[in-house]
Amino acid sequence: MSSPVESVVENVVDRIDAVDTETVDNDGGGTTNIDRWANLAERVLAGHRLSTGEALSVLAAPDDELLDVMAAAFRIRRRYFGKTVQLYFLMNAKSGLCPEDCGYCSQSKVSEAEIPRYNLLNEEKLLDGARVAAERNSKTYCIVISARGPTEREIDAVAAIVPKIKQQYGLQICACLGLLTPQQAQRLKDCGVDKVNHNLNTSEEYYGEICTTHSYRDRVDTLRAVRDAGMELCSGGIVGMGERREDTVRMAMELRDLGVESIPVNFLNAISGTPLEGANRQHPLDPRFCLKVLAMFRMVNPKSEIRIAGGRELHLRSLQPLGLYAANSIFVGDYLTTQGQPPEADYRTIEDMGFEVTHGEEVAMRA
Ligand code: SF4
Repeated sequence: MSSPVESVVENVVDRIDAVDTETVDNDGGGTTNIDRWANLAERVLAGHRLSTGEALSVLAAPDDELLDVMAAAFRIRRRYFGKTVQLYFLMNAKSGLCPEDCGYCSQSKVSEAEIPRYNLLNEEKLLDGARVAAERNSKTYCIVISARGPTEREIDAVAAIVPKIKQQYGLQICACLGLLTPQQAQRLKDCGVDKVNHNLNTSEEYYGEICTTHSYRDRVDTLRAVRDAGMELCSGGIVGMGERREDTVRMAMELRDLGVESIPVNFLNAISGTPLEGANRQHPLDPRFCLKVLAMFRMVNPKSEIRIAGGRELHLRSLQPLGLYAANSIFVGDYLTTQGQPPEADYRTIEDMGFEVTHGEEVAMRA
């Protein structure tokens, strides 16, 4: 039995623990830590924009409250996307040989990773990739090239193939070609590209730690050029590169300010031979934290498509299905230079959860 003094001390310690977790702004009085997450979701659905403190508190939520955080994220996801899941299929249309020095990327000139290196695939191979994407029930076919930005010849090739893919397979097209000028963005729009991917990757403050050959502002300029040309934006980032939680939150908020429709959230798969090859040991990610990251992105960007992207299998591991309570999209198949799990495992997860693959126009950003 505790002495009176010990009881008081225990009480104080309990109270401090409780205060530590009470970092979510609320409307005052009477809420428990558990229903606080539900209240936060309700406020987001009523139009509240998460503050930096609130977003950080999602990332700092105790593991005991993980399911409550995910339930809150799901309330928001359900409003805008129901139980639908959108599948994306990646085609690495040009691999390696990139003059930039992004530290996470196996295709950079500074990477010694053993990856295939080839120039832009021909039409036949790009069409074949589209066929596989369609067979795998994907909504979107992502044509990705490793480059600082596309050459005119590469833009010509994309402009020639996109109408054929759309006509034959009815897929949406997302082009990821590096930095774009306004004229290049307009050409992509004119040939039928639906959206352009260009990731911010991290906060402006941390950007110099992961890349020196172009700037964060260069990336934002490309997103603005894409928007001005009338295409949707696909832009997200990478978690686990040594950034602070504040950097991840800042990125999520910048994506909100840019009105990004589609947000891929990557968890760093540190590839041997890249400058960040030791990052998974130095800055380990655990599956519960990864889920909180996805929940935070959902709460900051309630109407945006949130995609669990690279590193899903490695870092979410057996908790992958829970990620879909916050996210509404995944890649099916392999990533650019790393393997994904077999598509059948993803279809099974989606079915087991009572979710369904969609090709339709979701209400996101239109609700
Ligand atoms: S610009 Fe793209 S392909 Fe090139 S190193 Fe950076 S991330 Fe890799």
